Amino acid sequence: MSDLRINQERLWASLMEMAKIGATKKGGCNRLAGTDLDKQARDLFVSWCEEAGCDVYIDKIGNIFARRAGDDNHAPAVATGSHLDTQPTGGKFDGVFGVLAGVEVLRTLHENNIQTPTAMEFSVWTNEEGSRFQPAMQGSGVYAGRFDLATELNKTDANGIRLGDELKRIGYLGEEEIGSRPIGAFFEAHIEQGPILEDEHKAIGVVRLGQGIRWYNIEVNGRESHSGTTPMHLRQDAMVPASLIIAELEQIALRHENGLGTTGFMQVYPNSRNTIPGKVSFSAELRNPSSDTLFTMHQELISFCETLARDRNLDIKVDPFWYFAPVEFSASDDVKAATQLLGYSHMDIYSGAGHDACYMADLVPTGMIFIPCENGISHNEIEYSSPEQCAAGANVLLHSMLQASERIVKR
Ligand SMILES: [Zn+2]
Repeated sequence: MSDLRINQERLWASLMEMAKIGATKKGGCNRLAGTDLDKQARDLFVSWCEEAGCDVYIDKIGNIFARRAGDDNHAPAVATGSHLDTQPTGGKFDGVFGVLAGVEVLRTLHENNIQTPTAMEFSVWTNEEGSRFQPAMQGSGVYAGRFDLATELNKTDANGIRLGDELKRIGYLGEEEIGSRPIGAFFEAHIEQGPILEDEHKAIGVVRLGQGIRWYNIEVNGRESHSGTTPMHLRQDAMVPASLIIAELEQIALRHENGLGTTGFMQVYPNSRNTIPGKVSFSAELRNPSSDTLFTMHQELISFCETLARDRNLDIKVDPFWYFAPVEFSASDDVKAATQLLGYSHMDIYSGAGHDACYMADLVPTGMIFIPCENGISHNEIEYSSPEQCAAGANVLLHSMLQASERIVKR
């Protein structure tokens, strides 16, 4: 079994075939969740899985599970999966690589008539990108019980169209109960979407953690007044403290190892050149793979804002409305062992972005496999990983799944 390898050419051909669905002029993909193009991509996945002997199940939020029976079909299955939806200017690999690496694992098992100890499942999660419908990782989040099914099916796009209606229209509003798949371990292969593996010349990233995220809405309230007639000492300018907070976010991030801090959204009232702003609202985001460090960063931001409000006699509201705790990938040792078995260069890494696997880790031992992507570029039409890089990731996925399957039966 340790000699078993996936077929690199076939994997690449599948990636290129899938990329035709929603292909953009610049070589990327535009395949938003719940569209006709999403349907075409799902249909192609389902047909490939059925050709390789799977039974296909669809759950009530449109997640797809293709099941290949094993030796012991009462034991929990080993599953893999990712997403087929893309950003409006997405690439050919984000998500798709993980799904099609799964299909390639399936085909390799099928053509070699390999009876695995447990069943294997190959999944596609609904709306991972969160572009047309929010939030991101919606299908896996519902599956894991983080989000309420009815609430998410009622979510609408910018034109007021419900996700539930779109899933029904494209034939992917299924009957399977949420969270009902008998799964004992989950793996997701994904492009890194960052520059580290390429910089370090490593073929495989063994993902140990998904970093934690804290999101804030911050509102600074001052008083509008004429910019030409209000002396500096009499102003209640909302913009200057807002800018100090934004600069402090950068400082907080720089003070802590692996810290990240970002403001990406801002509204200025009244947003007029010669009126001192009376109100500034903006987003703040802090990220760190360590929950302790992230909490310290959080405290620093809160106390900075409190001090600033006092010093300037201004009202500053900080709403810490969302916290995503760091995720530990407890099946990452399977990934590491598979990588070593195959002799690929590798390193431990953490995931900067959210993935479906982050929610699956709530339920079962989960592992993630990263492969490099050119210049670390993702969410971009030029996103690229080579056939060799993709093959390495799929081979590690294959052997991670085989090891986990053996482990489950031995237990
Ligand atoms: Zn993705």
